[in-house]
Amino acid sequence: MRAALSTIAVERPRDLAHALRRMSAEAANGRLTPIAGGTDLLVYLNAGTHDGRGFLDLWGLAELSGIRSGRAGVTLGALTTFSEIREHAGLARRFPALVEAAAVVGARQIQNRATLAGNIANASPAGDSLPVLMALDAVVHARSTRGARAIPFGTLYHGYRDLSLAPDELITAVEIPFARPKSRQFFRKVGTRLAQSISKVVMAGVLRLGGDGRVDHVRLGWGSVAPVTLLAAHAGEALMGVKPSRAAAARARAALMLDIAPIDDIRSDRDYRLAVAGNLLEQFLRAVDPRFARS
Ligand SMILES: Cc1cc2nc3c(=O)[nH]c(=O)nc-3n(C[C@H](O)[C@H](O)[C@H](O)COP(=O)(O)OP(=O)(O)OC[C@H]3O[C@@H](n4cnc5c(N)ncnc54)[C@H](O)[C@@H]3O)c2cc1C
Repeated sequence: MRAALSTIAVERPRDLAHALRRMSAEAANGRLTPIAGGTDLLVYLNAGTHDGRGFLDLWGLAELSGIRSGRAGVTLGALTTFSEIREHAGLARRFPALVEAAAVVGARQIQNRATLAGNIANASPAGDSLPVLMALDAVVHARSTRGARAIPFGTLYHGYRDLSLAPDELITAVEIPFARPKSRQFFRKVGTRLAQSISKVVMAGVLRLGGDGRVDHVRLGWGSVAPVTLLAAHAGEALMGVKPSRAAAARARAALMLDIAPIDDIRSDRDYRLAVAGNLLEQFLRAVDPRFARS
């Protein structure tokens, strides 16, 4: 049943320390849900699928805002919106795949409110930024009154919507290391239309050809093809150390089928997703080097 607005209580913490104390105090009874842009939570409240009535509004917390560039990478505050990502010149240069993903989350109105940490914590296997964070080896920073933790993105999800975040923890930031020089990035979302669609298949790739012309770094992140966002290990192994050729692309495509396990649902079906995932992988490889399409 829809939640009546009069039954909802929203707290505005003074600062991060205050927010963490409130999270700690309410962790045992689970009565306090952090809310950032609210673009997922308000949908759930409207649909009656979220039964919490107490919310901790993070939106005003300066400690969770901002995009900072360091020597080894970029740190994005938890509240960084997809609009901020789209409009950041440094991110466009360093992380084009992330900026492309930001541009296809919902549409402009959603991008103005939707945050990166909200996308991560919502833990949907269709979350569009997640394959990018996977492929770029991002690290999620979480804090509670017990201390701070750095969680490698690849270890964040244990199962469908099962996130390794304790009830008293908040995501504070996401750190993305700079990709290796000369590596190529790729992002592609396949949905029913360009805006306001949930992905049928979403993928992000990072690949580098070394000086000897062989692949010496590859990461392939996938969404909507399994219960969790995943890194395609078999496909990655099939590509490591090889020179671009049509046969190498075909072997990687076959290996990818061992990595993914899509299902039939209202948005698409398993066979379509398997075919599209294979096509996207080949498209990425051809974009990196046309020899992946030649015999
Ligand atoms: C019309 C529409 C279109 C959409 N299209 C897309 C799309 O194309 N692609 C896509 O990926 N998503 C899409 N979404 C989903 C949503 O916009 C994103 O998942 C968004 O990033 C959520 O961020 P938020 O700040 O609004 O999260 P909220 O709704 O505020 O929170 C989502 C979850 O994250 C938790 N949370 C938020 N911040 C933190 C934090 N710092 N620490 C711990 N937990 C936290 C909340 O408790 C909640 O469980 C769409 C939503 C709508 C309504």
